[in-house]
Amino acid sequence: MTTVFGKIIRGELPCDKVFENDRIIAFKDIHPVAPVHLLIVPKKEIVNLQAVKTEDFPLITECLQVVQQLAEEFDIAEGYRLVTNSGSEGGQEVFHLHFHLIGGRRLRHLG
Ligand code: 5GP
Repeated sequence: MTTVFGKIIRGELPCDKVFENDRIIAFKDIHPVAPVHLLIVPKKEIVNLQAVKTEDFPLITECLQVVQQLAEEFDIAEGYRLVTNSGSEGGQEVFHLHFHLIGGRRLRHLG
């Protein structure tokens, strides 16, 4: 695993962890754009959403279940935004699949 998230998954870099099991880790974004800004990261090294294979879909589903759980825990279940940036053109900087869970303030309409 070569990315900064690989290092976090291996415990080589600290993070503000909010969830972990054998397959998924979630932690606070180091540069939050809202009062709640969490990153949900499958431990399997998948580059981005476009690289997800059919066999990975149960893992993606589990990520979404973690999103629901964290939305409840962080008291944003009434409204939040879930984002994944796929590829440089999509604004991706860390090339290890992750989902941004953003909330805690009123989010502007996209576009
Ligand atoms: P991307 O642009 O790839 O979708 O998002 C990467 C996110 O990872 C950014 O929001 C950035 O702030 C966050 N990030 C980058 N490095 C670290 C780090 O070392 N620790 C944490 N917690 N977040 C990071």
